Amino acid sequence: MSNNDCDVLIVGGGIAGLTAALVSARAGRRTRALTGPALGGQLISIERIDGYPGFPDGIPGYELCPMVQEQAVAAGAEFSAAAADGLTAHENRWKVTTGEGEVHAGAVLIATGTSSKELGIPGEERLRGKGVSHCASCDGPLLRSRTVGVVGGGDSALQEALTLAQYASRVIVLHHGEALTAQAAYRDAVLNHAKIEVRANTVVEQLIGDGTLTGVRTRTTTGSGERDVELAALFVYIGLAPNTSWLNGTLELDASGRIPTDGWMRSRVPGLLAAGTVRSESAGRAASAGGDGATAAVAADRYLSDGAWRV
Ligand SMILES: Cc1cc2nc3c(=O)[nH]c(=O)nc-3n(C[C@H](O)[C@H](O)[C@H](O)COP(=O)(O)OP(=O)(O)OC[C@H]3O[C@@H](n4cnc5c(N)ncnc54)[C@H](O)[C@@H]3O)c2cc1C
Repeated sequence: MSNNDCDVLIVGGGIAGLTAALVSARAGRRTRALTGPALGGQLISIERIDGYPGFPDGIPGYELCPMVQEQAVAAGAEFSAAAADGLTAHENRWKVTTGEGEVHAGAVLIATGTSSKELGIPGEERLRGKGVSHCASCDGPLLRSRTVGVVGGGDSALQEALTLAQYASRVIVLHHGEALTAQAAYRDAVLNHAKIEVRANTVVEQLIGDGTLTGVRTRTTTGSGERDVELAALFVYIGLAPNTSWLNGTLELDASGRIPTDGWMRSRVPGLLAAGTVRSESAGRAASAGGDGATAAVAADRYLSDGAWRV
């Protein structure tokens, strides 16, 4: 890394981190952003981001996120693809370590978001990337005229089932509960879609296939026994786990592993802020994550100006 010192270091390159980088650089702060493994975060593979202001017909994440990054770079923010692996206090400032060196900053804005949860069942590890996926827009086009499965019943699962139905001949949604929990717009679209079948009260117990996935073994929670379902691919959307293990105890986390903040996105430790889905009580939408990032950048700027941290 060329310059290892800055005013505000943003860790995370999702919509929260990208927006924070833009707002911080525009405030005149020397701003660095470490994007980690996925510039654009969860949104980068979304075919159509719904509910984002300014785009009534939606916009692909792979278009929106690079646009925000370009805007942040034009404002003066510097980006690197390094991943943070540690955070410690250092001479009244903060030190973040990465595999490519360390960065020192007056304030650190944590926007490391979430990663998709896994099923934790036999066959999953062996078949990951060989029919087991978390990315409908990446793998959907390769599955034309095939039958695919989606695990989950929330917004992400149904939104991605609709994306997959553009390509696959049949999409089977396997949902462990009685009722789908997604918002009404997705629920109605899925339930009325000719290519999508919803199987409620259904748990996926095992993935089947030697080299690649060929199907799954399911069990109903209502007692009608086990059943094997032939599938060309399985897409798993059963929730999101926060990316906070790299903090190694520097910050107190809530029971779900997220970072508690006040309304200014300030943690309980002066100089450390959190934005987006990595923080407690995030609304979980792209617009709210971007808003968190903007708020946190303003709070960091004020903290660096007056040194006060009134939580
Ligand atoms: C399938 C799916 C569909 C969705 N569809 C919509 C939608 O249509 N509309 C909507 O409003 N919302 C949608 N969402 C929600 C939306 O994706 C999130 O609200 C948003 O991505 C949160 O942004 P974020 O920046 O907080 O975190 P993330 O997007 O999770 O980004 C986290 C960033 O942190 C980086 N990172 C992680 N660890 C490290 C590390 N150690 N060091 C450095 N960087 C690190 C990652 O590389 C990534 O850049 C969807 C989510 C999913 C899963």
